[in-house]
Amino acid sequence: MRVSVFGATGSIGESTFDLLRARPDIQVVALTGGRNVARLAEQARESRAELAVTAYDDCLEPLRAALAGSGTEVAAGTQALIEAASRPADWVMSAIVGAAGLEPGFRALAQGATLALANKESLVTAGPLLMAEAARHGARILPVDSEHSAVFQALVGEDMAAVERVIITASGGPFRTWNKAQLEDATLAQAQTHPNWSMGQRITIDSATLFNKALELIETREYFGIAPDQIEVLVHPQSIIHAMVGFRDGALMAHLGPPDMRHAIGYALNWPERSELPVARLDLAAMGQLTFEAPDPDRFPALRLARQVMDLHGHAGAVFNAAKEVALDEFIAGRLRFLQMAALVDRTIDTLLTDSRLTAPVCTLETVQQMDHLARETARRIAADLT
Ligand code: NAD
Ligand code: MG
Repeated sequence: MRVSVFGATGSIGESTFDLLRARPDIQVVALTGGRNVARLAEQARESRAELAVTAYDDCLEPLRAALAGSGTEVAAGTQALIEAASRPADWVMSAIVGAAGLEPGFRALAQGATLALANKESLVTAGPLLMAEAARHGARILPVDSEHSAVFQALVGEDMAAVERVIITASGGPFRTWNKAQLEDATLAQAQTHPNWSMGQRITIDSATLFNKALELIETREYFGIAPDQIEVLVHPQSIIHAMVGFRDGALMAHLGPPDMRHAIGYALNWPERSELPVARLDLAAMGQLTFEAPDPDRFPALRLARQVMDLHGHAGAVFNAAKEVALDEFIAGRLRFLQMAALVDRTIDTLLTDSRLTAPVCTLETVQQMDHLARETARRIAADLT
């Protein structure tokens, strides 16, 4: 099997790489990364990758130097990433963070590869297009988000017509029990410490605001094609149950596992079979109890915003995601406070409500990228007002 990994040097990328190590039958085609050139080169040497690509032009020379004599080709820049996705491969991991992961995923589908999709932003910004592209080329998209992999697994052998509801769980993040006054003062250091999962910085902060769960609500709708009012979010602080599917006879099928992304990645890698995976086995007796709470829309407005976005359809997902990415940049840079992130996303959507393109159906990648661009400009302008 020929495999490429986009975002190989990130959290999902490293977990994927870890699983590939145990599979000598796999030929690594392309590995991509950002500024972590030394790690990308190490991975490329170890896996004898055909091609290593950095997203940044100024990283090309250091990457070339680090891979001198290795036999691995090197390239840099956005176009090189897209070309790398066109290299024939059977299975492609999409684990770049943010909207930058969208186009490589499209290219991978266009060449018929199975797309293991960790980059949830692809479905949030261009869900209908991505699903149509997969159908057009007879390509498969396999979910690599713990909740969506859980739903996917709970649905094996089931009829979608018998599905009444889907419940995705949320840990509640580091601020689950904090009141609004405390949230006002939440710091970057606090927001980037997740109680259960070890993940990249951006998704970790998105878990603290519940923007991650907001993206996942939309991701659920796009991937499984079910109505927003059939999708629920349940706070479950232990992160052991990842999702549940409720059927019309009242049965709930739950998926349980330790908070380790190698399960969802490995499931997608081995699909449609199951093979042994190096994840911890649960000892439920030792754990004692699993608890559940309803999410609080007042302290965590991200979920309400996601529901608004689902009602709007069209390019609202692209606007939502882009505004959220700008809000995150501003928070990381110390220019926005924690609660201002949701306020900025809210105001960006509000501002663009009068633009007819917001609700126009998503037909091409270009319009998605245009709306993404417009939303970023708008959000930056509003952010300058807020600070
Ligand atoms: P990360 O920040 O750890 O890694 C991101 C990777 O993308 C790195 O290889 C980085 O070099 C590369 N990258 C960053 N910006 C880029 C750009 N502009 N162009 C090209 N490459 C770029 O992120 P992560 O936590 O591994 O998350 C990756 C994706 O998977 C995200 O969409 C995230 O929402 C999703 N996801 C992650 C987890 C998790 O446990 N980490 C779980 C579910 C879903
Ligand atoms: Mg998730």
